[in-house]
Amino acid sequence: MKTTILGHPRIGRKRELKKACEAFWANNIDEAFLVNTASEIKKQNWLQQQVLGIDAIPSNDFSFYDQVLDTCLTLGCIPKRYNAIDKDNYLELYFAMARGLQKDHIDVTAMEMTKWFDTNYHYIVPEFEKDQNFEFFSKKIIEEYKEALSLGVKTKPVLIGPVTFLLLGKEKEPGFHRLELLSRLLPVYFEILSELDALNIKYIQFDEPCLALDLSIQERDAIASTYEQMASQFPNIKIYLANYFDCYGDNLDMALQLPVDTLHLDLVRCPSQLDDILESKYFNPETKLALGLIDGRNIWKNDFENSLKFIEKASKKIPLENLWITASCSLLHTPYDLDLETQLSSEIKQWLAFSKQKIEEIVALKNLSSEENNAYLYLFEENKLANLNRKRSKLIHNDAVKVRISNLKSEDSQRKSEFSLRQVKQKQSLNLPLFPTTTIGSFPQTKTVRSQRLQHKKGALSQEAYNQFIAKEIEDSIRFQERIGLDVLVHGEFERNDMVEYFGEKLNGFAFSNYGWVQSYGSRCVKPPILFGDVSREKPMTVDWSKYAQSLTDIPVKGMLTGPVTILQWSFVRNDQPRATTCNQIALAIRDEVIDLENNGLKIIQIDEPAIREGLPLRKEEWQNYLDWAVKAFRISASGVKDKTQIHTHMCYSEFNDIISNIADMDADVITIETSRSKMELLDAFVNFKYPNEIGPGVYDIHSPRVPSLHEIEDLLTKAKNVLPHGHIWVNPDCGLKTRDWPETKKALKVLVNAAKKLRKSE
Ligand code: GLN
Ligand code: ZN
Repeated sequence: MKTTILGHPRIGRKRELKKACEAFWANNIDEAFLVNTASEIKKQNWLQQQVLGIDAIPSNDFSFYDQVLDTCLTLGCIPKRYNAIDKDNYLELYFAMARGLQKDHIDVTAMEMTKWFDTNYHYIVPEFEKDQNFEFFSKKIIEEYKEALSLGVKTKPVLIGPVTFLLLGKEKEPGFHRLELLSRLLPVYFEILSELDALNIKYIQFDEPCLALDLSIQERDAIASTYEQMASQFPNIKIYLANYFDCYGDNLDMALQLPVDTLHLDLVRCPSQLDDILESKYFNPETKLALGLIDGRNIWKNDFENSLKFIEKASKKIPLENLWITASCSLLHTPYDLDLETQLSSEIKQWLAFSKQKIEEIVALKNLSSEENNAYLYLFEENKLANLNRKRSKLIHNDAVKVRISNLKSEDSQRKSEFSLRQVKQKQSLNLPLFPTTTIGSFPQTKTVRSQRLQHKKGALSQEAYNQFIAKEIEDSIRFQERIGLDVLVHGEFERNDMVEYFGEKLNGFAFSNYGWVQSYGSRCVKPPILFGDVSREKPMTVDWSKYAQSLTDIPVKGMLTGPVTILQWSFVRNDQPRATTCNQIALAIRDEVIDLENNGLKIIQIDEPAIREGLPLRKEEWQNYLDWAVKAFRISASGVKDKTQIHTHMCYSEFNDIISNIADMDADVITIETSRSKMELLDAFVNFKYPNEIGPGVYDIHSPRVPSLHEIEDLLTKAKNVLPHGHIWVNPDCGLKTRDWPETKKALKVLVNAAKKLRKSE
């Protein structure tokens, strides 16, 4: 048997690449320093895998920013607006495509970014024209292969496959489908392969995760013909074809007939496919199978007993030398190394495996499956014990929580009256003008706010002094909001580091790492909380600050919470019970908080759910099941209050067309969404559906420091007014303002309030 991984994390053990990139962008280090940092990271990654015993070590899995952007440059797929940049200045061109560039006479925007399948990783979206030309432009794949070779590591180069590459991109003009570009694109792939062939490579890994999606016949045929051509032109190169994040599904028969050396299987997301394959009439015992048994998307220790069963099953039909042991997907989505965590409780730590530990698990599984495995039996015993400890741990199980879940009744996810009745009561109780103005929750997290929090965390600032500081920030923000005439105020979220971490730290069932960073996009990383056990709320989490804010003013203040689906989605979630159950546990904790806020005088409560859409499974047939439990969890969190208490929710960067009925089913009294960048296009879904409840379509793009003009906001509001029912429209920014500075925030919000006032007058 052989071992491999599809890709390694690349941000650096302690985020060295992030720091170097950001210093380079700020002109604090030169290119040589950045390139050198990158080489060090690659070297460490390769040598560590070699030492740990990985047989086929990937190269070209490193990236300064994003692997799809790398592929664009490899294939010379460079939008024309970057022509003004000197192509010899590779990194300038590269980062201009990633982040835009304003310099001398050059002013170009960045390429779009979107989520990589159902992960929290974002890739740069390739742009295609009708007459798109491709050329083998960046030689990164060749250079990295040689770089590893010079260190004594013969690698398996990794490249995004041509069909997935095309499908990930977007047509930038009408009149063609991007798949039609395949015949222009393939010659470049052949050129790359012949250069690699000349270097005598043994394997190449093509990532075609589009195989985890519902493909059309044309798309499926495109894959078949691509790999038939490749295999016939390059008989000496073994193609390792990687699909991950879901089953091959309807694409399986085609995939099994491909003339590739190895098919990679994500057995974490789709354990049933091994049986399907072994029993398929298209199964060819010559084809090698890569068993992706180690979870590349989560941080739990593998269950060796279970994995060995899969290996045994496969080995009955396939000779051991034709099997690979690997992780389900690239390890990009897991943190570097558990050994760095010195503050995690040892009980929890023994249940976990980060990237390095996952590589060790891969090798251990290989050793345990070999014939003379006695020497490794201790690894099996260790693994078994750790998993048994986890199963039985008192830290995980809380009977009261389990009882509450099993006692959930349908009334618990149902407001007392229907929306139209609630609306009347809320209008009476809140007495708001037409086109009420509000914000989404956070105000600028200035340097001072962040440094005070850090000082407090380090123990250098007492709880009392920190509280005084936060109180003052809240008071200033309330006074500012009163002054400019907003109708519904917020406290500003100054006490929160992050909208999920803040709640995770207060809820039982969550643990936190110090170095558990995962790349989100470019140099940005997230450190998801580790949701290991039954979730419960010990005491109120937000009541003090919200109550304090409300005590400062007669104008209604919105209580501000993160919703259950978003907390679930942005954490590493336990794998020992269904996600739906975990989500309901969080929902109950948030429900208690909502009721406490109501009891403490908050008449409006917002439950943010920006991650609802990204939780959608890759295959449509699984959507309904997810939407059912996700919507229900939100409703559980929101339904404990009186009719006159107004529940808001907020979602950003989402398209709603295909899930609009489910969004309506969430039954929030008010939903605020991001619409300004799309010039209200995202509102269409609500209009066409005749969305029954109130809506605040964002009228101010908070992603840029630009202050919108009165005219622009009026324009957007008029558009909304023309299509939405009278009395249903709120006026608000697209999202929270935490990434902005105060000067532009103040100016923009004044404009926003003025636009609403003008509109009211014209009624
Ligand atoms: N209430 C949060 C804020 O304003 C919402 C953030 C989000 O939607 N991502 O920051
Ligand atoms: Zn938002």
